[in-house]
Parts: sequence; structure tokens; C-alpha cells
Amino acid sequence: MLEIKNLHVKLEEEDKEILKGVDLSVEAGKVHAIMGPNGSGKSTLSYVLSGRDGYEVTEGSATLGGKDLLELEPEERAAAGLFLAFQYPVEIPGVGNMTFMRTAVNAQRKARGEEELSAAEFLKLVRAKAKTLQIDADMLKRPVNVGFSGGEKKRNEILQMAMLEPKMCILDETDSGLDVDAMKLVSDGVNALRDQGRGFLVITHYQRLLDHIKPDVVHIMADGRIVKSGGPELALEVEHNGYADILAEVN
Ligand code: ADP
Ligand code: MG
Ligand code: MG
Repeated sequence: MLEIKNLHVKLEEEDKEILKGVDLSVEAGKVHAIMGPNGSGKSTLSYVLSGRDGYEVTEGSATLGGKDLLELEPEERAAAGLFLAFQYPVEIPGVGNMTFMRTAVNAQRKARGEEELSAAEFLKLVRAKAKTLQIDADMLKRPVNVGFSGGEKKRNEILQMAMLEPKMCILDETDSGLDVDAMKLVSDGVNALRDQGRGFLVITHYQRLLDHIKPDVVHIMADGRIVKSGGPELALEVEHNGYADILAEVN
């Protein structure tokens, strides 16, 4: 599904290499987690995959279902089935959440050659999804993210993810200071959307999140590379011993 090979990335503005050869392959139906000390490049990896400005890929490749992600515009990446949880965190006063979400969903359907949804069809679908996820659909009536609590923003994000039906979901929860409730929201949302045809990459600083989302594979990232991969027990090892032992072992 997601295939990253020898990815090297530097900042556009300065000559600083941040990703130094990342290799990662996430299969359909699997949940992979990336953990790692602060500053190791976890967020940079998700930004580069989303197509954010400011980074330059100097070597390597990233494909989704065989498609070269790096040559696609951010919207085209979304249409190809990539979802990033921080994609729409912005507040947009004056634009209803419902309209916003329908626009995103229809842009994606159009890119896939599918019929666009009418307002009524969209409403029916979004209500059904919200119900499955036990999310109150009332926030759809409000302007996008305006005055949303942290928890509401998370709910909105999970609902967007469910509506867009992505093939590959990337969640970077490292710096968001997830409290227990938000962690439960995110993990319930991910678990509800786990599916044979869908892959997840969950980036987190906290082992606790992985108590709720049972990952199939855990990777440790340090200094711009994935230095160790293993099963869920690797996350427990980090919880008990921190990163020092692992880093000493690989250095
Ligand atoms: P993580 O998410 O693992 O904490 P980041 O990807 O946020 O790590 O950062 C990796 C390294 O790249 C850090 O040393 C950070 O300071 C640096 N970095 C990332 N983006 C920028 C930027 N736009 N300008 C300067 N330094 C950056
Ligand atoms: Mg950080
Ligand atoms: Mg980060």
C-alpha cells in the first residue's frame, strides 16, 4: 500500500538534512506505529507525504498503491486515497462544517470518477457515519473548527476520515498533547475504520495510545531513520526503558 524507500529530505531554506534514508512499507489492513524521541523527524515524514511546502526530497521514493506520491499535488494525494489527520485543522469562520466536508468528499469522488453527492445524500451518509462512530452530528452545523474544543476537533477529524474512506491514514499525534479522552476518541475512530483494504500509520510519542490501538508493527525512528522495527512489545520496551537502550543498541 504505502511504500517508502530510502527517503532523504532536506529543508528547502537551509542545507539541513532531516530524513536520512527512511524505509517503510505499510500493507493494506495493517496498523503501523512510529515512535521516537523528539526531533527525530516523525512529523517531517508526515508533512513530506502530505506534500507540504518547505521540504525537498533529495533521494528515494514514496508510492501509494504503486502511484508516485511525490509528484502529486496535495489534493491529488488525497484523491489517490491518502488521508492525513492534521489536514484540515484550520478554523474557517463563515464556512459551515457540513459544506466544507461535502466539498472535500465531492472533490475526491470527482477525482475518482464517481458521481458527486447531493446535499441530501451527503447528509444521510454523514449522519450514518457519525452514528457508527458515536459522534454527535450537531457540530456539522457550526463553522469549521471555530470555537471547537480539542475533543471536538478530534471528533471532526475522525468523521472526515470516515467520510473520505481513504486507503491510507496517517495520524501524527506526537505534539498534540492528547489527553485521555482525546486518546480514546482517536483510538476508537481508528479501530472502527480498521479494514482489510486500509492501512494506518500512527505516529505517537506516547506508548499509551498504542494500548488502545493495537499496532501490528512498531517502528522506532531516530535521527531521520527507522532504526528498529518489531511487534507491539517494542512499544512496551520503550515505555519501560525509554529510548536510550534501543539507541545504544543500534549505534
Ligand atoms: P519529531 O516529529 O520527531 O519530533 P520533527 O520532524 O518535528 O521531529 O523535526 C525533526 C528535526 O527537523 C528537528 O531537529 C527540527 O528542529 C527540524 N525541523 C523540522 N522542520 C523544520 C523547519 N521548518 N525549520 C527548521 N528545522 C526544522
Ligand atoms: Mg516534535
Ligand atoms: Mg512531531
